[in-house]
Amino acid sequence: MTDNKKFDVIIIGGSYAGLSSAMALGRALRNVLIIDSGLPCNRQTPHSHNFITQDGAKPSEIAEKAKTQVLKYDTVKFLNDLAVSGNKTENGFTITTKTGGTFETKKLVFATGVKDIMPDVKGFSECWGITVIHCPYCHGYEVKHEKTGILANGNFALHYAQLIRNWTKELTIFTNGKSTLTQEQTDKISKHNIPIIEKEIAEIKHENGNLRQIVFKDNSTFDLKAIYSRPNFEQHCKIPEMLGCELTEEGLLKVDMFQKATVANIFACGDSSSPMRSVSNAVSTGNIAGAVLNNGMTEEEF
Ligand SMILES: Cc1cc2nc3c(=O)[nH]c(=O)nc-3n(C[C@H](O)[C@H](O)[C@H](O)COP(=O)(O)OP(=O)(O)OC[C@H]3O[C@@H](n4cnc5c(N)ncnc54)[C@H](O)[C@@H]3O)c2cc1C
Repeated sequence: MTDNKKFDVIIIGGSYAGLSSAMALGRALRNVLIIDSGLPCNRQTPHSHNFITQDGAKPSEIAEKAKTQVLKYDTVKFLNDLAVSGNKTENGFTITTKTGGTFETKKLVFATGVKDIMPDVKGFSECWGITVIHCPYCHGYEVKHEKTGILANGNFALHYAQLIRNWTKELTIFTNGKSTLTQEQTDKISKHNIPIIEKEIAEIKHENGNLRQIVFKDNSTFDLKAIYSRPNFEQHCKIPEMLGCELTEEGLLKVDMFQKATVANIFACGDSSSPMRSVSNAVSTGNIAGAVLNNGMTEEEF
């Protein structure tokens, strides 16, 4: 790692967004420290899709390749650790880690992602990212035309129904309790022959994450190959909020079009600040944050 304790930029989160930001900053001759706790949100997914040049690769392989390329720049250092607190100082910030490290920096980038909160449905978390999927652009092609469920209610169930119907017509909505769809929404869904099942779910049966059937609390069952679901989430890292960064109504870090957060000298990129959750978006916003941050520093120094 590093004996150095002072950096131009500390990037918290060393997955796709953080590494992309580090690439731009390291190549701009900034002394960068990446602190990463090694828990990217897609770690259970066997294959990542929809990112050109890496389509179908393992998520960890994409990150490893990126890390190897980024760490070729001696301007960038990588620390496997958890950042636990941050404080503002006269010249920037200090960041403290779980193992007791304290580091100073002029600027901060949060590439910390979000934490998906698994619902209390037996089998859900084991299937998450394998056959319980959140995004048709990432995994829809692999389960096209298959018998597929939508585990959602209300506006979101309607949204998913109209979207996923593009990939399969074998669709059923599971509201897992009383439907909160309006009559108008229900009529629209019925027009496309998509059943709405309100029975409460006891369990998702699977083999190694490969979905077999839904078991309801009344012991009836429903065979399926895949389920779409979007669980709630929270910020993976609370330090931005400790430092006064504002969140959007959805719970994302508020940023402008240049990835600047609402506190001076703090940037955010990737899932922590964007509802468009994809590897390509994380790489893109990380790259923007790095370039804009460096540009600001050149202005300050000139
Ligand atoms: C199940 C699943 C499957 C997906 N499949 C695809 C797909 O096929 N194609 C696609 O394009 N996208 C896919 N996505 C979306 C994609 O994985 C994310 O958009 C992407 O990982 C976001 O990158 P990120 O760098 O912002 O965050 P993450 O990749 O989530 O990384 C955040 C990093 O920050 C670290 N971190 C957080 N807090 C701290 C802290 N306090 N200190 C130190 N480190 C910290 C974490 O450990 C982690 O390493 C999928 C997502 C999920 C959930």
